[in-house]
Amino acid sequence: MEERKGRRLVLFPLPLQGHVNPMLQLANILHSKGFSITIIHTTFNSPDPSKYPHFTFHFIQENLTETESSTKDILSLLSLLNIKCVAPFQDCLSTLLSDSLEEPISCLISDAIFHFTQAVSNTLNLPRIVLRTGGASSFLVFSAFPFLKEKGYLPFQESQLEEPVVEFPPLKVKDLPVINTSQPESLYELVFKMVSETKASSGLIWNTFEDLEKSAIAILRDEFDVPVFPIGPFHKFSPASSSSLTQDESCIAWLDKQEPKSVLYVSFGSLASIKESKFLEIAYGLANSKQPFLWVIRPGLVSGKEWVEQLPNGFIEDLNGRGHIVKWAPQLQVLAHFAIGAFWTHSGWNSTLESICEGVPMICMPCFTDQKVNARYVSEVWRIGLQLENGFDRGKIEKTIKRLMVEKEGEEVRNRILGLKEKANLCFSQNGSSSQSLDRLVSHILSFES
Ligand code: UDP
Repeated sequence: MEERKGRRLVLFPLPLQGHVNPMLQLANILHSKGFSITIIHTTFNSPDPSKYPHFTFHFIQENLTETESSTKDILSLLSLLNIKCVAPFQDCLSTLLSDSLEEPISCLISDAIFHFTQAVSNTLNLPRIVLRTGGASSFLVFSAFPFLKEKGYLPFQESQLEEPVVEFPPLKVKDLPVINTSQPESLYELVFKMVSETKASSGLIWNTFEDLEKSAIAILRDEFDVPVFPIGPFHKFSPASSSSLTQDESCIAWLDKQEPKSVLYVSFGSLASIKESKFLEIAYGLANSKQPFLWVIRPGLVSGKEWVEQLPNGFIEDLNGRGHIVKWAPQLQVLAHFAIGAFWTHSGWNSTLESICEGVPMICMPCFTDQKVNARYVSEVWRIGLQLENGFDRGKIEKTIKRLMVEKEGEEVRNRILGLKEKANLCFSQNGSSSQSLDRLVSHILSFES
């Protein structure tokens, strides 16, 4: 832990699991560098402050109605948060600034999706640094949305799905980071503001590392007139995790009893939801593969269902202990376990990085936005996993699992991801790229007048 710097940073995470976790991890990293930390958070989806006694928390009332806060429509939730948070956030931040004479606030660090915070920072004359919790490669595609619209790639038609996006190889039209919505214009507007307000910021932090996304980072440095700091993977430095769901530790004892590298870990993150028909194909595909599996079925994963009630009668008993199902797993611990041989993922950025850091090859089944770009990079750029695409049924699932976990092809994929794991572990060494980038970030923050 470094000497205290007598400076405070205010961090404002987007209140979704895959965004709160990396922001809290970043907070731990910056705290270890000597900064004091204040977290402003919505009351919606708030983390438990007692887990972070070294931070100061302020909760703002964003006043979402019950219907608004329980919506499955992520796009409208994000757009609404960018409207409803403005006044309470500005009040909170200006009070903090006027109360901070003893320990001046150096800057605000906010999630890229909270684009309104740039205008608030300008008003209060406080520098704003952006944390982008996704990858750099997908952000490049987001930043090209106006171009992609102009070229006719967006919005796309069914008939275009398999066509290449020649300006972004190896992406196909179906990989463009959109979400299924009846209001594509509100998606374009959200993305446009996220990008333009990032360009207007005083710096950009990435949860990624140079060896993974070198060319995307170089292009961003070139195209964005703000300093760029790739200082990930954050969780290697600080494994903070916050979730309203309780991690079911029973799976570790179950994993302890399995053969090395034999288990397929299956989890689709905190937001994705799937249809019942797809869920059943997954269940049968897993059972037919004969491979042991640990499956996270989050309550609400299957649209309109409570939990596992739609599994066929006797399904679990017929597995004879070969499958273990939990509502939420200690994912970092699971991926690091000797018994895990592969990860069937929705290709969220955090899950992708966590898998890379443990050298666990992936089966990718992206649902929306940047997950689609991440999956294509995993399968065709880094070649550390296989993508389930072009049809989805139990036969195809069984075959894909075998390709990755039993056949020679899988061994090659595993060797490649083990190479990447090594690089990920080196970037936090003394002269590693993320350590150096972090030192530059600290100097950058200290250069702000406060
Ligand atoms: N996670 C977890 N337990 C689970 C499933 C997921 O702790 O059973 C964590 C996982 O380690 C990751 C985060 O939840 O840090 C999911 O983030 P990601 O970006 O992969 O996906 P999102 O949930 O944002 O779609």
